[in-house]
Parts: sequence; C-alpha cells; structure tokens
Amino acid sequence: MPRASRQDRRERLGNAKRLRKRIYKSLFRNNLISFFCLAFLTSQVALVWSKAGSCNQPRSPDNVVVSSPLPASRPFEQHEKLVVSLEFTNVCNFKCPFCPQAYEDLPMQPGGSPYDRKHGFMSRAVFDRAVDECRRVAKIVELGFFGEQTLHPQYLEFMAALVDRPFQLETNTNVSMVTQAMMRVWVSSKLDLVRLSLDAVTPEVFNVARPGPVRSLTTGKIVADADRMAAVNEKVHAWLAMPDHRPTRLVYVNSSYNQGEKQKFIDYWTPFLGKDDHVLIKQVLSYGGKIVDPLIQSHRCNVWEVKYLVIDNTGVASPCNLDTNMDLALGSVMEKSVEELYFGERAQWLKSRTGCGNPLTPCRTCTDGNNWSKNEKHGRASTCATGEQLVQLRVA
Ligand code: SF4
Repeated sequence: MPRASRQDRRERLGNAKRLRKRIYKSLFRNNLISFFCLAFLTSQVALVWSKAGSCNQPRSPDNVVVSSPLPASRPFEQHEKLVVSLEFTNVCNFKCPFCPQAYEDLPMQPGGSPYDRKHGFMSRAVFDRAVDECRRVAKIVELGFFGEQTLHPQYLEFMAALVDRPFQLETNTNVSMVTQAMMRVWVSSKLDLVRLSLDAVTPEVFNVARPGPVRSLTTGKIVADADRMAAVNEKVHAWLAMPDHRPTRLVYVNSSYNQGEKQKFIDYWTPFLGKDDHVLIKQVLSYGGKIVDPLIQSHRCNVWEVKYLVIDNTGVASPCNLDTNMDLALGSVMEKSVEELYFGERAQWLKSRTGCGNPLTPCRTCTDGNNWSKNEKHGRASTCATGEQLVQLRVA
C-alpha cells in the first residue's frame, strides 16, 4: 500500500476535524433542545404537584370551598309575617278518636283523605334552619303540628335554644309525658302560650276521648287506666300552681266523644286559672277531610288569610295547618327559603285552587277548614271572647 503524502494526511486530518466539529455542533444543538424540553416538562410536573399538594393542605378560611349556603328569606314586613307550626315529631302516644293518628293504620281515613306519612323526629340541622328562617318571616311559632312534641328526645334542648327570639312562641301538648324539667324550661324559655289539650275532666270520658299511655309526674311510671285522668290533672295543677308559670290555655275539643263534659270542664278549671290563663272550647274539625263526627260543621277555608306555614319534621312546608299528610307541600326549607316557598309558583298555583270541596287532596273532602266560629274563651272573670272574635284575634 503506497504511503500517503503529507498533503493527503493534512486533508484527512482536516476532514476528521470538520466531522468532529459537525458532530459536536449537532450534539450541542440536540442537547439544548433536550434541555429546554426537560426544563419545560419539569416545570409542568412541578405545577401539577404544587396543585395536587394544595388539595391536601388544610385550608385557610380564605380558600375554603364552601358548598352554597341555603338561601335566606328577606325580613318580612309585619303585615306579611306568618304563623308557623314547627313539627318536632309526628309520632303520638295517644289515639284520640277525633284525630287522624287513630286511623293511620287504615288504608283511608274515615273522611276520605289519606294519612300515611312516615313517622320521624326533627334533626338539629332542620330545627336550626327552620328557626333561622322563622326569625325573618314569623310572627308566631307554634311548636306542634301533628304529633306529641314532648316525645322528641331533644325537646328540652330545642326549647332552650328558643329563649332569644323575635316571634311569639307557643307550645302544644297532650300533657301525658310532661315532666318537671319540661315545666321549668317552659318558664325559662318565657313561652308566650302553653296549650294543654285535655278534652275531659271525668276519668271515663278521658279514657274514651284521649286513650294512650300517661306517665306519672311523681314516679315517672305509666299509670293504670283508672288513674290516667288524675295523673294528667296532677300535672296541670302543678303547672298552674307555679307562681311564674307562663300564660296557659286549657283546650277542650267538643266532639261526640265527650258530650256533657264541657260545662264540668269549665267549672272545674276556672278557679285555678291565673290572670293570663284561659279555657278554650273548640269545635271538632274534620282535619282537612279526614275525620267524621256529627258535630263537624261546615265553614270556609282560611289558611291563606291566617298566613299559615307548617314545617314538618323533615323540613317540608305546607300552607295548611290541617294538611297532616303534607299533600299540599310547597317544598323543603332545606333547599329553598320560606320566601321562595310561600310566594313561589307552586304556592300561587295552590292559592287559586285550595278551598273546601275543591278537586284537590285533601281539600276535596275538607268541609270545615279551621272552623273557629263556635270557639269560646273562658277566663277567671267571664267568657272573654267567642267565635268570630277569636278568628279576628288570630288573623290580626
Ligand atoms: S280546604 Fe284545603 S287548604 Fe283549606 S283547610 Fe281544608 S284542607 Fe286545608
């Protein structure tokens, strides 16, 4: 093989250098691209990590993601304010024959309207929400709609939470389960009216008109049938004897189950009434077309005039205080404000259709609305007010 000349060697060396240079250049250019690619990718990964990391961080109050709060009603003008019934529970320990509770196991109530609503107890969340709305929309809150409210396990707690309020507060009870602690909370909560449903003063009549277990105030035990009236009366006497007891109404519903008992009831209790207490004689109602009794008398529906709103133990609202099955439900306060419910589309639709005998459940079989025209109010001095006067008092 001939030896390469000096010239050839120089050329080969020059070619090798150029080739090396090209390779270095190419490598450098590719590395630069790779570097930037890598840097970009790294920054994106860091970003993702930083976002992901923030999900697990405890959130400061500023960056907490709050699910949208429940809508609040505007404060109602005085003339718009509602009479709200809050139902702690629709469970009752009595089965009074003039009440739909007595027939809830039947496929249909005697009057033809249904009552098959599920039993339940109001949760603290529903209670807080309903009361919060009542602060803006209610002039009167009645604790009780359909059931014995003292059966609620948080009855004392709920009552104590109602001390500061911008509305009048009233409670209903059949007295059977009332305890000394409940009477004390009625006083400390400064209740505006305590309504005690009695309907009788004679043990035999009481056992027919108001059957169900009664607990003794002194022993806390369920008493024998023969002692039921005495046990209830003992509680009423104990309450009325408390010097700081709140204004009290002793309620007597005039039905075919307690005939002949009315005057005895008035005469028995009147001497024990304080100056702010009274006896109220009421006419039996069909309960929105559920009950049948020869003493039920027809009357027009007045629920929109009174501005009723019932909130049941689940938070569902109805404009009728006799709609015990919530067939006229407007919706739930756990989703909408009372303002939206009471003035909304559904309410307007119902307003033009409710009324005794109208083709709507339960109005279809309702003949008497809230017939207060025969009501009598008796106090220490004499009869204080009657019938339509009482209607006016409630509407005003
Ligand atoms: S007519 Fe209807 S809305 Fe009126 S009281 Fe009777 S059930 Fe209630």
